[in-house]
Amino acid sequence: MSDPSSRRNFLRGRVATHSAQPRPPWALAEAAFAERCTRCGDCARACPTRIIRQGDGGYPTVDFAAGECTFCGECVARCQPAALSRTAGAPAWSLRAAIGEQCLARRLVECRVCGEMCDSAAIRFRPQPGGIAQPELDVAACTGCGACVAPCPTGAIAVR
Ligand code: SF4
Ligand code: SF4
Ligand code: SF4
Repeated sequence: MSDPSSRRNFLRGRVATHSAQPRPPWALAEAAFAERCTRCGDCARACPTRIIRQGDGGYPTVDFAAGECTFCGECVARCQPAALSRTAGAPAWSLRAAIGEQCLARRLVECRVCGEMCDSAAIRFRPQPGGIAQPELDVAACTGCGACVAPCPTGAIAVR
């Protein structure tokens, strides 16, 4: 364990290559993120929509049940060790919304809340002859902002 980064990982008790928990926007790849992030909480304190919380191991994760990401970049600006790092033109993340089976419209109950919340018009409702319009997600248009998640009355939307 002569390599200093390996030693730091050892001392922190993990060598991370992947996390199921979404990181804040513009996070480095998981292993590099875990190496740099000091778990200081500055990103969480900086977030105006309060969607960053402490996740596993004290590392920051985004909780879309608390609100949406506006991509303001405040979390990145506050990250001293540059575990969050915004390079020109780089996407914030690869997260996208997904509509699950708990969706009311899928159960033939009228609901269009998610479509009304989506500023990117990524959720459109396709009319069904004699039935309930069904939501369809345009993955290419979705930014993964999460604005549709909390307002969904059945918790049918996940961002992953
Ligand atoms: S970009 Fe802004 S809204 Fe999104 S997680 Fe960072 S501080 Fe919060
Ligand atoms: S807000 Fe939720 S329940 Fe309503 S249409 Fe969208 S996914 Fe379905
Ligand atoms: S995550 Fe944001 S952009 Fe994607 S469908 Fe939901 S509201 Fe629209």
